[in-house]
Amino acid sequence: MLARYLQYLHADIRQAERSPEEVEFYAPGPESWLAEARQLLIDDPKTTFGERCGLAPEAFPPAGRLDARQVEGLGGALKRLYRSWHLDLLMPECMPAQAAYPALVSVLEKKLPIVACGWVVVDFCEGEAACPFGQHCFCQEGGQPCPEVDPEPGKDEWY
Ligand SMILES: [Zn+2]
Repeated sequence: MLARYLQYLHADIRQAERSPEEVEFYAPGPESWLAEARQLLIDDPKTTFGERCGLAPEAFPPAGRLDARQVEGLGGALKRLYRSWHLDLLMPECMPAQAAYPALVSVLEKKLPIVACGWVVVDFCEGEAACPFGQHCFCQEGGQPCPEVDPEPGKDEWY
């Protein structure tokens, strides 16, 4: 049941990706880069990113209902989606997929400007107490963002 649902969800995420052609269409020349940067300062985005790309955060099952492979799969798909929209996520590099997943889904609820030339940086960390990444974040005292653990053998990094 869930596996079936996840298949559809993955298809939806793929559909929501922005195509390179679309990026090009909105980025016609070097002069538009400045115009875009200026527009960003004026524009206050009214819609959430999920509304913009057509994905609802509610569509994503809570991490607790997914196994490790499913969480990794969805997390990887979301990262690819965000890259296609030029969203640069500030996350500790080697965060476990389980810990990253809720943050990745929460990007859909954020009101973000959409750019074609540059990148929009998405920050999650608001300092120790409010940090959604807990011990995995560089902001935590004694936190170990990148412990020297062996990644699962024979497996590519999922980012
Ligand atoms: Zn942090």
